[in-house]
Amino acid sequence: MGARGEMSYEKAVRRLELLRQVHADLDGCTVCPKMKGPVVHGPPVLGRVMLVGQAPGPREGSIGRPFAWTAGRTLFRWFDESMQVSEEELRRHVYIAAVARCFPGKATGGGDRKPDAEEIARCRTFLAREVAILEPELVLAVGSLAISEVLGPLAAKKKLDALVGGVTRARWHGRETDVVALPHPSGASPWHKLEPGKTLLADALGEVKRHPAMDALLAAVRRERAARVAS
Ligand code: SF4
Repeated sequence: MGARGEMSYEKAVRRLELLRQVHADLDGCTVCPKMKGPVVHGPPVLGRVMLVGQAPGPREGSIGRPFAWTAGRTLFRWFDESMQVSEEELRRHVYIAAVARCFPGKATGGGDRKPDAEEIARCRTFLAREVAILEPELVLAVGSLAISEVLGPLAAKKKLDALVGGVTRARWHGRETDVVALPHPSGASPWHKLEPGKTLLADALGEVKRHPAMDALLAAVRRERAARVAS
């Protein structure tokens, strides 16, 4: 798996066990009183590419997977158009996490409430465990909150125009990794539909496609397709 070659069977089994334990702990987590729940997470994918969103919306809890509604449709369309990889193929190979794993409820002015600093700090413990287990080579930070969570001081006081479009080498939870910032695909902000957002988004997706970890992922997808045709 990943750009650094195959992982041993024993190591993969151990990592899967550890990820399942993280998910079991997530499933039982109720420490944030303002969160609406339920906890939303994807399957325990052993990928070197990790995607970090903001928090689930109101629909994801009942569907039971992240990015399952309109924002997800836009996000997966970006990948399909730029890398010819389907939503299901991406979900099979990319580990999808978030700054917060519960729906925060609606904000007073409309739209989804952003997780507050205490909620982010509590949920960060899960991200730290996931990074330690997966050792990602490429982190896709989706939306301003996820970008500042992953890049920390490197993103301080910077607007999306300065953050989206390239690759940043960052240290996150003790691990050196490449980070590509993407805008949030929700309809709440038109940033990615207007210039310079449109061009910067295309540049960022180009960086993702060229990254060795994504290259390895796309090669695995092509092998799966070929195996299906051959069977
Ligand atoms: S947001 Fe995270 S820390 Fe808070 S209750 Fe949900 S899973 Fe637990």
